Amino acid sequence: MHVLITGGAGFIGSHLADLHLGRGDQVHVVDDLSTGLRANLAQHEDNPDFRFDEADILTWDKLERAVGWADRIYHLAAVVGVYRVIAEPTKVLATNIAGCERLLRAAQAGGWKPQVVLASSSEVYGHNEEDVLREDQDLSVSTRVGTRWGYSVSKIADEAFGLAYAQRFGIPAVIARFFNTIGPRQVGRYGMVVPRFVAQAVRNEPITVFGGGQQTRSFCDVRDTVEALDLLAWRAGRNTLVVNVGNDREISILELAELVIERAQSRSTIKHVPLREAYGEDFEDIRRRRPSLARLRALTGFEHRYTLERTIDDLIAIERARLNEARDGYCTLVRPESERAA
Ligand code: UDP
Repeated sequence: MHVLITGGAGFIGSHLADLHLGRGDQVHVVDDLSTGLRANLAQHEDNPDFRFDEADILTWDKLERAVGWADRIYHLAAVVGVYRVIAEPTKVLATNIAGCERLLRAAQAGGWKPQVVLASSSEVYGHNEEDVLREDQDLSVSTRVGTRWGYSVSKIADEAFGLAYAQRFGIPAVIARFFNTIGPRQVGRYGMVVPRFVAQAVRNEPITVFGGGQQTRSFCDVRDTVEALDLLAWRAGRNTLVVNVGNDREISILELAELVIERAQSRSTIKHVPLREAYGEDFEDIRRRRPSLARLRALTGFEHRYTLERTIDDLIAIERARLNEARDGYCTLVRPESERAA
């Protein structure tokens, strides 16, 4: 199978590349490396089935050709992460909406109708605080002024584009609403809570819980996410569907902080940071988020392989190894010549 992954050097995209290349598929990745990293794909550099282009999805000149080649396209190229969403409000809208439209237009123009898997987000549910969020519930956008909602608006627009191109031109789309995906290669720089807590715990630094920590999330390991996505794509075939993709175990951010401290056997303390200080004025945090997985399960029979504890343990081990490597590197650099010879 020919697989095109836009945003494929990023966190989720690089795991999709692993999955498909591991299976013998041919994979073409395009990424502008704004948040993605070439290092995430280093393991595939010598694989003849792997191809990489560094380009912006809005201007990539090989888009039509790549779309015409693909049997399946994962469209993940987007501006992501709360910090980037706050800092780059216009880029969020342009990249996320126009990028998706450009991709679908190319698919329609080529006439080949590849299957498109579109990355949506639990953000489309806005402030909805139901016990579980189901795909058939209304989507919502806050009435408060501010740019916080640009991201959810962009994802709602992408969903609408996917549905419109499916209906009008018969391009099959799997619209996946991701709920807090976590795991190896995710970085904390753009705000994501789990890599931040793990890095803090491993260094015995204070764990920064924003607000009271009563807000909840449901975290899903990326290695489960990519398996679920692939299964969904197979099951969907030429049909178009909207599906929550995540894990339905709900945990408060305070409990998460405590769990990370416990798993790392860390001396970290918990430090509450006011939301205003963390994100600036005009920011509303989501209080609660848990997916209904009824549709995902009915379609695929999917079962998760990774518990939250297992993911956290893996991340702690990776972070410790990175820290040790950095320390060794530092020692080599600063150790005097005479000592090094000895
Ligand atoms: N959060 C936190 N400390 C941090 C980073 C994030 O307490 O250092 C909180 C954040 O306010 C939110 C939750 O963790 O309530 C999840 O944040 P993330 O950005 O990972 O995901 P999202 O809010 O987009 O679901």
